[in-house]
This record gives sequence, structure tokens and C-alpha cells, in this order.
Amino acid sequence: MAKKEFKSESKRLLDLMINSIYTNKDIFLRELISNASDALDKLYYRSLTDKKVKIKKDKLEINLEFDKDSRTLRIIDNGCGMTKEELEENLGTIAKSGSLNFKENMTKDEKIDIIGQFGVGFYSAFMVSDKIKVTSLSVDSDEAYVWESEGVDGYTITKGDREEHGTTIELVIKEDTDEYEYSKYLDEYQLKGLVKKYSDYISFPIKMEVTHHELKDEEKHEYEDHKEIEILNSMVPIWKKNKKDVSDEDYDNFYMDKFSDYDKPLKVISTSVEGMASFKALLFIPSHAPYDYYTQEYEKGLALYSNGVLIMEKCADLLPDYFSFVKGVVDSEDLSLNISREILQESQNVKVIAKNIESKIRRELEDMMKNDRDNYISFFKTFGVQLKYGVYNNFGQDKDKLKDLVMFYSSKHERLITLKEYVEEMKEGQEAIYYASGASIDKINALPQVEQVKDKDYDILYLTDYVDEFCVTAIQEYEGKKFTNVSDGSLDLETEEEKEQTKKVNEDNSDLLKDMCEMLPEVKEVKFSNKLRSHPVCLTTKGDVSIEMQKVFDAMPNDLGIKAETILEINEKHPISDKLKKLYKKDKDEFDKYTKILYSEARMIAGLPIDNPTEISQLICEVISK
Ligand code: ADP
Repeated sequence: MAKKEFKSESKRLLDLMINSIYTNKDIFLRELISNASDALDKLYYRSLTDKKVKIKKDKLEINLEFDKDSRTLRIIDNGCGMTKEELEENLGTIAKSGSLNFKENMTKDEKIDIIGQFGVGFYSAFMVSDKIKVTSLSVDSDEAYVWESEGVDGYTITKGDREEHGTTIELVIKEDTDEYEYSKYLDEYQLKGLVKKYSDYISFPIKMEVTHHELKDEEKHEYEDHKEIEILNSMVPIWKKNKKDVSDEDYDNFYMDKFSDYDKPLKVISTSVEGMASFKALLFIPSHAPYDYYTQEYEKGLALYSNGVLIMEKCADLLPDYFSFVKGVVDSEDLSLNISREILQESQNVKVIAKNIESKIRRELEDMMKNDRDNYISFFKTFGVQLKYGVYNNFGQDKDKLKDLVMFYSSKHERLITLKEYVEEMKEGQEAIYYASGASIDKINALPQVEQVKDKDYDILYLTDYVDEFCVTAIQEYEGKKFTNVSDGSLDLETEEEKEQTKKVNEDNSDLLKDMCEMLPEVKEVKFSNKLRSHPVCLTTKGDVSIEMQKVFDAMPNDLGIKAETILEINEKHPISDKLKKLYKKDKDEFDKYTKILYSEARMIAGLPIDNPTEISQLICEVISK
């Protein structure tokens, strides 16, 4: 029988796994039990919606068997099973998306990270086994098949024997080494403990033959061993348990198992609602973004149960897009079991539950922001972009729900602050919430327009994410204070006297400014201003589109042709102003060169490209060589 090769990325992942860099090998058992439980769930759901599939719920179970002599451990389920094609598809590939980021000489942490990104899954069994044999009979097939593998070399699929639908996973457990005692996975007591620790909540019985020592003769201290099949798990779903009976570790383990994460969640939210729609929900905020979170492939949703029976793995309607990072389960007795998924989406109960869940998550986040700021910041750094996106998405319809959850970097505090905190600390006479946008904190700090606002001792919010400016534009104002871009041409921080003075300079030099403007077709206006301190020039904008927003539009695949209306401002107090005035009178040719150079400087500072770099560089050389 010819061996089939694993797909190449799967092979590398498997290699990492077999060389067992993952420290907690115990988890292989919970992964296999969890797969078995999923297969039972699937079969049960099928039986409710497909008349051809007849089963009895109380017959669905998982069995563990072990044999010390042959070093085998078997995990057996009578679930949906797999067809030949499914065996091939499901067990021949791990890294389905092909986006694995393998590097040469990876550190241990990087390796764990890669494995973690994909959830350890079925392949984790290779951490403890020399050989794996999967025998499966699908409910949709008459023939059983056997998938066998000894690791990276590949696998074979052959015909097999199995009476009842379901799957048997047989592991040949590795020999003990100096470092690790693999035999513990062939020990009754240890296996019992692992099931209790990781798989207690599984809703189907996990059965194993256990030995009882029974006292036969008290006087002689004689015992007799007697074996009995026992159910190892309590079968109560964790969300149905009394909160006081569930430890933080239990919640963490449940989360890591159910949602294939290698890290504990950042926050656990448990809620129980009685009323219009009664339900229990157990929600988790992950501590890091799933590898595909910011891609099209990511599917949001919560697992939906009806009284302990899974009806839908990912019910998207239970979560708004801006909370798409939340994972969890919802269990409601008010949902009918054999209702189609389409009808489910229209269900009033689902809508009521979704609304409840949305506000619960929001309250928890608000609470975390107030009382556990460090954790909130860590959350916000991971998922803040999603919240900010939520503010302006759908024409800003959710902005009021979210505006108190977003944070921005404050120039004064040099850390993230909320809008409420900004407004509370506003100076006497300060009319607006000032912000500046740019690629990084350092770049914004270097913007000429920032100086004048800082001189007034006003705080400035630094917007460094591409969504930020769209977000503040959607919010428009907070507690009556408007957002104002420090690069907006209409920024008005001068005294009446200064305004008069600037106005006069502009009037006196209107010809000069007009000529400059004509030379620069992209610019709407050229003016002398009082805004700048040390810098000679800057670009500001008129209207709704700022320079940073234009950059975002420019980067979009379909050019919408949206452009900022720019103004070239010249620092009236800078020596360059006098120089320009003199040249304008004496040497028009030189004046034109200065105009071009100054405009390029302004573009450079604003982080905009220069269309004619060779010409500008020659002009600069010419001028400085004089
Ligand atoms: P995951 O469970 O995260 O999808 P796994 O690598 O653990 O990844 O399993 C891959 C797939 O193999 C599962 O999605 C499932 O379709 C199938 N599978 C694994 N174990 C079983 C089983 N006991 N019964 C039926 N199908 C199974």
C-alpha cells in the first residue's frame, strides 16, 4: 500500500509537533475527546433534521480503552464517523489556509506560536504516540476505512472493519524516556484525572473500565479487585454549573479546548438571563487576535445550544461586527431544536438574546476600562481597531454605544486616554478637541502644526491608525466639543491682534501669493500665517478630507479620486518670508525656484510623495551653491 504524503506545510507543522516542543503533552487527550464529542453532536443534530438518520441520544458515548502490554490507548465514539474522502481531507491536512509563517532557526516560543495558531487538534496525538490508527465508519457510507500513520513519512488509507458508525482512534504510546514518562497515558488513575481536569463538561458520557479494590475479609486484610465500567465526567456543561463550583482554571481550560487557543482568555464573562428569552452565556475575550482575525476568512459567531444540545457552531447573528472577536457559547431553552438555520436567523428569540449579549459585553468592557485599566489597554491594543471601525461603520449608527470605549494617544500624558478624560482636562477657553494624524507618534511630534497648539498647553490626540481619523470624523463631537485637526486651515488660535496683522500681510502681498498659487496647481491657496513657530512652511487642508485620509484613499485598490484641498501656509515670522518678498520684486526666476522648493518641503513634512524629485534636488543644489 503506497504511502500518501502530507501536504508540505502540514508536514512541517507535524514535525514541530512530533519533536514535542509543546510542553503540555496531556492536552492531546482533551483534543481527541473534544473531536469525538463534536462527532456525536453532529450526528445528533443530523438525527433531528434528517429522518433517515435514526439514533438514540442515550446511546451516544465515548469510550476509553487501554492496554499496557501492547501500549495502546483507544478513544472510541459512535458519532457521525468519516468517509474515505473525509479521512483524507480532515487528517491529511492541518494547515488549511497555507498562511503559515515558517522561518529558519525558529525559537521555541515561535514554534509554539505557530502550532498554537492552528489549534493543536488531532495531530497533538503524535506528541505521545509512535503510531496512530483511525478506523471510521460514516453514517453516510457502508464501508469503514482505516487511516494509519507513523508521523511525517505520510499515511495510508485502507478498507477496514467497523460495525457501528463512529470512529476509533488507536494510539501506540511512546516508550518512556529519561525526560518523560509516556506510560502515564496507560494508567487508569492518570487517565481518570485527565478526563476530570480537561473534559468534565463534555455532554456525552466518557466511559472507561476502572478497578475497584474491595475489602473481602476485614480480619485478614484481604482485598479483591473488581472491574466496572464507569462514567468519568460529570457531563454538566460548564455554563450550566453553579459559578461557585467553577474555578478560573476550569473556565480557562474550557476556553482553550473549545476554541483551540494556546493562551488563556483575557476575560471571561458569564451571564444568565431570565425573561423574554431565557439563556445562559459564557463569553470570552481572547488575549490575542486569532491569526486570521483581520482577514476575510475570519468567521465571527457564538456556539448556540438548545438546552445542552449544539444547534449551530458559529451563530453570527448573536454578535455585532464590532464585537466579532468575542468567542463563547449561548444556551437557551427557548429555541426549538429542529428548526432550520435560516429560520433561526429570523427568530425573535435570537434577536433578543443578541441584544442582551451586546450590552453585556459593552458593560463588561466599560467596567474593565474603569477598574482594570492595564488589562483594558492590552485588550484595546489587540482589538481597538475593530471598535474604532465599528464607530464609523454603517454611517456611524453605533457610534454612541462605542465612543466611550475608544482610546487615543495623548501628547500630554504620553499614553492612551479616553475622550471623557480628554474633555475633563480641557483648559479654560479651549473650545475644541485637538487631534493630529500621522504614521507614528514621532512623526506627529515633528509636525509644524503641532507646535502652536502645544504652546497653548492644549492636549493633542495623536491618531496613528488608518481608521482613527474616520473614527473621530464619525463621532463629530464629544460632550459638545468638536474634533479639530491641527492641520485644518481654519484652525483659529490667534488673538484678535495677531489676526489683524496676518490679514494685513496677506492683503499687502496678494499678488505674490496669487502667483505662487498659480505655479502650484494642486494647491487651493497660499497664505502667510502665524500658526508656525520654528518651521518655515506647512500644508493644511480645507473641508472634510484631511491629508491623512487622502493617503488612506490613495492606498485603496479602486481609486475614488478623493483628494484633500490643500493650503500652503508660510510662516510669516520666518526669515524666508522676507526673502520671498524681496525676490518677488527683484528676481522672479529665483522666486519661482524658491516656491517649488518650499512646496516640496511642505509635502515632505506632510509625508506626501514628491512628483519631480530630480528637478527639486537640482534646484536645491543650485540655490545652496550660490
Ligand atoms: P479541528 O477539530 O480543530 O477541526 P482536528 O485536527 O482536531 O481539527 O480535526 C480535523 C477534523 O477531523 C475535524 O474537524 C473533524 O471533521 C474530523 N475529525 C476528527 N476526529 C473525528 C472523530 N472522532 N469523528 C469524526 N470526525 C473527526
